[in-house]
Amino acid sequence: SASIFAAVEMAPRDPILGLNEAFNADTRAEKVNLGVGVYYDDNGKIPLLGAVRAAEKTRLEAMPPRGYQPIEGAATYNTAVQNLLLGKDSQLIANGQVVTIEALGGTGALKVGADYLKRLQPGATVYISDPSWENHRALFESAGFPVETYPYYDAATRGVNFEGMKAKLNSLPAGSIIILHACCHNPTGADLSDAQWNDVVDACRSRGLIPFLDMAYQGFADGIEADAVAVRAFSASGLQFFVSSSFSKSFSLYGERVGALSIITAAKEESARVLSQVKRVIRTNYSNPPIHGGAVVAAVLNSPELRQQWEDELAGMRDRIRDMRTSLVEQLKAAGVAQDFSFVIKQRGMFSYTGLTAAQVEQLKTDFGIYAVSTGRICLAALNTKNIGYVAKAIAAVVK
Ligand code: PLP
Repeated sequence: SASIFAAVEMAPRDPILGLNEAFNADTRAEKVNLGVGVYYDDNGKIPLLGAVRAAEKTRLEAMPPRGYQPIEGAATYNTAVQNLLLGKDSQLIANGQVVTIEALGGTGALKVGADYLKRLQPGATVYISDPSWENHRALFESAGFPVETYPYYDAATRGVNFEGMKAKLNSLPAGSIIILHACCHNPTGADLSDAQWNDVVDACRSRGLIPFLDMAYQGFADGIEADAVAVRAFSASGLQFFVSSSFSKSFSLYGERVGALSIITAAKEESARVLSQVKRVIRTNYSNPPIHGGAVVAAVLNSPELRQQWEDELAGMRDRIRDMRTSLVEQLKAAGVAQDFSFVIKQRGMFSYTGLTAAQVEQLKTDFGIYAVSTGRICLAALNTKNIGYVAKAIAAVVK
């Protein structure tokens, strides 16, 4: 008899993973992969932070038993997450208005949030920015929501089409779910200003929208507190909202899957009911989160010394990316490029929408072994003092 899998079709390949495979197969010594979504240090390596190393050493020496965690994860971790997002003096935290669960990375947090929202607001449509992180659409669709977009990137100004975004938000039906990049927009690097965030809060209030902030890069733009501006604007608003957050980048703990979902409610007794429902979603999915990554993050955040060490290391990553932005712009100019690339300095976070066309990206690959996403997105953290000159000359060659 035929296999039950006989008619299964091959799913389309993940475009970024496909890029990595092609890069790995390339035999040119000078090849560079700008398509990645991770932070590399100046030696082109994923760092293991000193603060993480210290916390792991202590944990390893203690040889703790490996019982189950609570469904929502460790309280020490969840409280530390709340303090980072909302500020340690947050009235919302003091009032018991914040529900936080430890999740499997930012992706896991989005998924738990999406599944819970599907129970809370089954008829809603989800709106994501145009463009957005490519997994946003797939993730919310797989949770059963129709997914549409709101205007975001303006290619002409290389900034945000805020008038378009605001007009769209102000036209949406009550109960619509709005996914917002809290900082370091992926893929464009274009963020809202503080004043624009206040306008978004107003639109969410007047239209009765459900804001869902995705915070995957806290600390990568201007610093931990400064990058929380969007979360703080919503927390001052009196609205209910969702936040997914991730330590993949800020702790360089990609594979440990450390993130959190936080839900801001109207009152403490509401929090208890909401948490009980979110726990049902988790229980029937993966039961409870793994221990290690969250324990390491909590140990760092809850120790004044390790916390300081982590903040210094995070600042080091942030500054290195900034240096690469400035240096790329200078070197493009030095290579004789007439086009103004100074927008690269203004973009925030790990990525830049360079404006390179798909054909130019293709030429970078065939002629130079430099790999980027066909949209022209490059990862600044994949540049370093050794490869940046080569990359700048190659870009100069393809844009001329
Ligand atoms: N959200 C955005 C906007 C991202 O860019 C990413 C990672 O690339 C994530 C969420 C997911 O992060 P994690 O690796 O922690 O699941």
